[in-house]
Amino acid sequence: MSEIKFKCPSCSTELEAPEDMAGDVVECPSCSQNISIPQPSAGVEVASSSGNNHNACPNCQVEMEAEAVICLNCGYHKGLGKVIKTDLS
Ligand SMILES: [Zn+2]
Ligand SMILES: [Zn+2]
Repeated sequence: MSEIKFKCPSCSTELEAPEDMAGDVVECPSCSQNISIPQPSAGVEVASSSGNNHNACPNCQVEMEAEAVICLNCGYHKGLGKVIKTDLS
């Protein structure tokens, strides 16, 4: 279950709503304005800290899943900043 995080356009209070309420209009608990909940589509302000939702491997430039830490193509570990390919040969 994921939640949509968004801000009230009127008072900038940070709000969250269940994903299945996207498109519904709710009343802001802070300022009572009617706000429509944005769609959780990729590219909107979803929880990722950097504004960059494009996650490509810095080593081989292959597209990685948004939360992936290890590149499945070359074994590059983004946290460690190096390839951790286990060489079994
Ligand atoms: Zn508000
Ligand atoms: Zn890679």
